Amino acid sequence: MEATPVASPAKLSPSEAEGPLISISKMASAVQPSATMVAGAKARQLRASGVHVFDFSLGEPDFSTPPHICEAAIQAMRQGLTHYTPAEGLLELRVAIAGRYVGRYGLECGPEQVMVSNGAKHAIHNALTATCGPGDEVIIPTPYWVSYSDLVEMTGARPVLVETSRENGFRLSPARLGEVLSSRTRLVMLNSPCNPTGTVYSRSELVALADVIMESRAAILSDEIYENLVYDDAESTCFATLRSGLAERTITISGASKTYAMTGWRMGWAVGPQAIIRAMANVQSQQAGCPSSIGQYATLAALAGSQECVERMRREFDARRLLVCDRLRSLRAVRFCEPRGAFYVFFDVSALFGKRVAGQVIADSAQFCQAALEVGHINMVPGSAFGAEGYVRLSFAASRENLEAGLDRLTELIEDAS
Ligand code: PMP
Ligand code: GLU
Repeated sequence: MEATPVASPAKLSPSEAEGPLISISKMASAVQPSATMVAGAKARQLRASGVHVFDFSLGEPDFSTPPHICEAAIQAMRQGLTHYTPAEGLLELRVAIAGRYVGRYGLECGPEQVMVSNGAKHAIHNALTATCGPGDEVIIPTPYWVSYSDLVEMTGARPVLVETSRENGFRLSPARLGEVLSSRTRLVMLNSPCNPTGTVYSRSELVALADVIMESRAAILSDEIYENLVYDDAESTCFATLRSGLAERTITISGASKTYAMTGWRMGWAVGPQAIIRAMANVQSQQAGCPSSIGQYATLAALAGSQECVERMRREFDARRLLVCDRLRSLRAVRFCEPRGAFYVFFDVSALFGKRVAGQVIADSAQFCQAALEVGHINMVPGSAFGAEGYVRLSFAASRENLEAGLDRLTELIEDAS
């Protein structure tokens, strides 16, 4: 379902799409604006009009990029490293990224298997463009990150949405995966730790999925962007390493945005078989030239420097996670699975449907979010944007103080529902 387009960008109306002078392509007219970006814009707009917004919408770390990373960018600019780089990214950065996969996960990988893009979103777009087209199917377990289905549709391929449920922790089962795989399946998209549910699959659960996929001709796009944000005993797994032969059919996505609080730098990467990476680099060379040079030097410093900042941010996210879960647990009307990764809680508000919240009868998750924003000034993203109506996503990438105050208001709204 489409998010309410109260702020730019917004989906085009039919008359705009068929404007007389410049007609807009079918593909672009069909694209929905990213619901998370729309929600972020909404908060900005309200803030500009003087309202204090409890913004729990956009999934981006509220921390500043660590100083040593910013310093590396400044140095790069001073040294005149401000030119085009190779389309696939700087060799030294690709060596550092490959080295991290070898050292941390034991993936056999060299720089020729790495491509740097302008954000992980761009890396996913490149991967889909290089592998999918009309007639292909891409399996996406729901709830899924907002952009997956639109990015798939932009290639002409068809997203095959496969429902998972809270009862099994929003996990895709091997049996269900086996049922939906077909000769048309080009890719299976996996995302652990998951946005929006916070689900982290265990190694054995992923092995079971890998075994099913390996019986087919499908490839895997494993989005591991939240790999450094796991809690309790959850562990990040590099899907490509799980079975021999799996790396030859897996494209791994990650990046600097979430790990190093570098969302605005737009630095993401893909790791995969050399031929696919080369195809993706060809696409990128035509469509973006290369990723930002300054961003790449900053990312090099992020990977080479102390990882203490990553752990410090992770610990703070964990404290916020516990705070939010405690508060939500005290609300009888909402249900959720405790997240073990990323920085979101995805909770079920469907028990409130048909009731009055802040004076409005609530019929769906979008209306719930609208009421929470209008009356409580709490900004969240409706579950419908993630393919899971009935739910709401709360991002706890916000200060504890703001979370406490926002949750006080949310509690009031929910407890007063009648
Ligand atoms: N994948 C997932 C699951 C995400 O939540 C996001 C959102 N940032 C991305 C990819 C894209 O990240 P980036 O900011 O690096 O484009
Ligand atoms: N991934 C983040 C989110 O889900 C950032 C916004 C986006 O890129 O969609 O909120």
